[in-house]
Amino acid sequence: MPSGPWRPHDEVLTDEALPTLWEKLGIPGVVDVHTHFLPEPVMRSVWRYFDDAAVNYGVHWPIEYRSADDVRLAHLRRMGVRRFTALVYAHKPVMAQWLSQWALDFAEDVPDCIPTATFYPEPSAGAYVMSALERGARVFKVHLQVGDFDPRDPLLDDVWGMVAEAGIPVLIHCGSAPLPGRFTGPGPIGEVMTRHPGLKVIIAHLGAGEFEQFLGMAKSRPNTWLDTTMGLTDFMQELEPFPGSLLPRLRHLSEQGRVLFGSDFPNIPYSYAHQIQVLLDAGLDMPEVLWRAPARLFGADQYSGLL
Ligand SMILES: [Zn+2]
Repeated sequence: MPSGPWRPHDEVLTDEALPTLWEKLGIPGVVDVHTHFLPEPVMRSVWRYFDDAAVNYGVHWPIEYRSADDVRLAHLRRMGVRRFTALVYAHKPVMAQWLSQWALDFAEDVPDCIPTATFYPEPSAGAYVMSALERGARVFKVHLQVGDFDPRDPLLDDVWGMVAEAGIPVLIHCGSAPLPGRFTGPGPIGEVMTRHPGLKVIIAHLGAGEFEQFLGMAKSRPNTWLDTTMGLTDFMQELEPFPGSLLPRLRHLSEQGRVLFGSDFPNIPYSYAHQIQVLLDAGLDMPEVLWRAPARLFGADQYSGLL
């Protein structure tokens, strides 16, 4: 597979070599804003979905890190991932509250996990989002393609307002790639962002496949970040290529602290180090992307001992 329109990798970076790279970059490790931990039966059904990727996405998607939670946790820690999320998301009513409780329980047991929750447009959303905030949720995840809901749904008005007021970011899969949905694209979420200017939004996957519009939103709107998840990897460049012409703008945004490292670990069909390698090759401001920008966003207080 081609490595993209920029510098090809001269040598392959391995997961084992990552801690040495952090040292060279002068950072104590990385914050990964986009990792998944799920209740075991849910994770198994996610993996089954990727096993059928040839049908769902038109490509093979062999999961690289298909192992038990403790094995995956140990691997993240060995690589020097100092903080990570446990992103959960619902595709139908009733699930979101249960998933949020599970993710918040998980973070109580796993101190390096950033407490994570989710929501779905349903009458109970306000109450369980409030209780997730009270339990210390530091990030919410919403997936507009899998969830297949309109982020402008009136059932979410209070929720967006509540989360904005709490200053807690929402990480949103809102782009139309690799699969479009009825409410993906910059339009629907853009209206929510306009209605709630204080809402902190992290746009997943560099905004694929509306890269240019989402890059524009991250540049012009305060409280807006992009996560790198799957971006620029050989796999994604085949599926939905990031245009080389936008690289200077992405580099600039990374220097402004608007690009956050995310990986989609463990559900990736390539090594963790490959994701790091392609961002390095693309010339992003790596200390900002990997450590400083997320540490600022998630509260320097929590990380001050590490910064
Ligand atoms: Zn993901």
